[in-house]
Amino acid sequence: MVRDFVNTTDHETASDELDSRAALGRYLRREGLLTGSARATADDLDLALRLRSGLRRALELNHDGGGADLPALAAALADLPIALTWAGSAPVLGADAAGVRGALARIGIAAHEAAAADQWWRLKICSFDECEWAYYDRSKNRSRSFCEYGCGNKLKTRAYRARQRARTPG
Ligand SMILES: [Zn+2]
Repeated sequence: MVRDFVNTTDHETASDELDSRAALGRYLRREGLLTGSARATADDLDLALRLRSGLRRALELNHDGGGADLPALAAALADLPIALTWAGSAPVLGADAAGVRGALARIGIAAHEAAAADQWWRLKICSFDECEWAYYDRSKNRSRSFCEYGCGNKLKTRAYRARQRARTPG
């Protein structure tokens, strides 16, 4: 859920799936996070974009094991309506509001649950500067630097071509 949310902005095609309040609503409905007729306000869209850019920054840092103060992300997380409740058999975190804010809260909770399940460190941003896609690193030692779309090879090809060009006079 976190990966898909971060990937609503596509560096390669320079497109943004969340470019309006209506688009945010459509995205959250498609992901099954929002039902009913709730509409996103300008504040909701602002919070969604702050949350997304903060998560993206955090995922970039996960290559190096994370560990940085991210005040913008902290502020976005603090704005999410989240409550700890009793689910009959265990305490659980839940969205403490309906509508768009509640849907965004569920994305924040998913990030928390990924951390609790020790999966957070596997969420990263592809190191290929033309890609920057969020991906889940399934490698045994969490050492993958590139997404599943072969960006490591693309980078090698680019380096190879650059060397070829450097060798060709004129
Ligand atoms: Zn990539």
